[in-house]
Amino acid sequence: MSGKRLGVFGGTFNPIHLGHLHIAQEFARLLSLDEVLLIPAAVPPHKAAKDLAPGEIRLELCRLAVQEQPLCSVSDVELRRGGKSYTADTLHILSEERPKDHLYLLMGEDMFLTLQEWRRPEEIWSTADICAAPRSRDASEKLQAQKQALEARGARVHLCPISFLPISSTLVRETVRKGKPIDKLVPWSVASYIAAHSLYRITEEA
Ligand code: ATP
Repeated sequence: MSGKRLGVFGGTFNPIHLGHLHIAQEFARLLSLDEVLLIPAAVPPHKAAKDLAPGEIRLELCRLAVQEQPLCSVSDVELRRGGKSYTADTLHILSEERPKDHLYLLMGEDMFLTLQEWRRPEEIWSTADICAAPRSRDASEKLQAQKQALEARGARVHLCPISFLPISSTLVRETVRKGKPIDKLVPWSVASYIAAHSLYRITEEA
């Protein structure tokens, strides 16, 4: 029996938002993925961890968000491992656990443009196809140039024409801090969990 086409979607997910779900669905459709695995990072190596909610809360929010997403599931592989979450290690574990599956590493423009700076990048693209979605309005030249640069180093790259939703976790956290509604930015289940647990309320001067 042939293996699955598995999308691997890592991130801080602090918190998960509709931009994440939108690209997960669109990648799945455009690349005919059988499954998309969302993997919240334990400690994000690529960005500062300001306002980072505990791992178990980010995991729970991801689980709530995918309840109505039939292709998506959530993995705690990075949170269980603890320490810094390196994608090369995660892909290595997944490829050993699921040797028949073909891995597609899903990411937005900002992450894609820095891929060669990640820990052991060659291992990343030898284990998974690299799949990128735009995250700005006029991304196409930058994305094309990066695709060519990575392909010259042996990567298999898919630039996916996914419409861009101007949502970020930073925007969600700022909106909560201002006391404004976030129901247009996150699924309702995530919005109600954030409200019920008073998440992301702490101000900087505290
Ligand atoms: P923050 O605002 O805290 O930096 P974020 O919104 O960038 O967070 P992450 O969890 O860091 O969210 O992102 C995980 C992945 O999802 C990254 O590959 C990122 O590029 C991608 N991504 C997040 N939001 C979008 C979006 N609106 N459009 C396209 N890609 C996105």
